[in-house]
Amino acid sequence: MTLRGFKSFASSTTLRLEPGITCVVGPNGSGKSNVVDALAWVMGEQGAKSLRGGKMEDVIFAGTAGRPALGRAEVVLTIDNTDGALPIEYSEVTISRTMFRNGGSEYAINGQGCRLLDVQELLSDSGIGREMHVIVGQGQLDAVLSATPEDRRGFIEEAAGVLKHRKRKEKALRK
Ligand code: ATP
Ligand code: MG
Repeated sequence: MTLRGFKSFASSTTLRLEPGITCVVGPNGSGKSNVVDALAWVMGEQGAKSLRGGKMEDVIFAGTAGRPALGRAEVVLTIDNTDGALPIEYSEVTISRTMFRNGGSEYAINGQGCRLLDVQELLSDSGIGREMHVIVGQGQLDAVLSATPEDRRGFIEEAAGVLKHRKRKEKALRK
């Protein structure tokens, strides 16, 4: 995963996430949670609150005493797809998301511009969909335990990969 201008990562920063457990260690405020936010963001997260910000533009490097703010944030995630977990004919899949300070936002899959929906559909059968239940934040376990039956059904539907079809159906019915 490469971050450019995302939150505290003003300079291009690449992290290699190997199979198994990766630990991110550092002092308070050094950007550990920002790494997790970047992962959620590049996979299509739409909630500013889930990204611990007030508005979506808050993901763009806001500047520090010694460094001016940037005009855009970009995260590029390259996934090893040799096991074919993603329904696409490539052994390596690159998803990128760019956001500009004027509000514009772009997504690409393997360098080809696409819609958010395309990213969501690509990921939705892999168990790492938009609802991000693979990212368990502080306090989230409590939320799952105290979820309403409807919300709990949502978790299960996402895990089972039927959410995509329900969303498509809802969209078709709206037309
Ligand atoms: P803790 O151990 O307390 O959980 P952490 O390592 O998880 O800390 P983060 O929350 O990832 O820290 O990073 C917080 C830092 O990121 C703060 O210093 C904050 O100013 C900085 N930050 C967040 N958004 C931006 C932004 N848009 N531009 C510049 N810096 C930012
Ligand atoms: Mg943190």
